Amino acid sequence: MAQVGKGKLNYRCPSCFMRDLDIDMFYDKDKDEFYCIRCQYRGDEKDVLEKNEMVRFRYKAMLKRFTNFDL
Ligand SMILES: [Zn+2]
Repeated sequence: MAQVGKGKLNYRCPSCFMRDLDIDMFYDKDKDEFYCIRCQYRGDEKDVLEKNEMVRFRYKAMLKRFTNFDL
């Protein structure tokens, strides 16, 4: 449904982002997937969005834990 134009949408690689690297992924038109040139991650739009949410959640949880630990 959502049209993904070439270079129109930039998703950051969730796998790299977990390692504190902000890497934009490329879009594989043939396979309808996004892929990362830095690591082996690849997945479709839905998967990328899901993983990005997971990373965000994990980061938040980590920060929370750190704050609690500091207190
Ligand atoms: Zn990556």
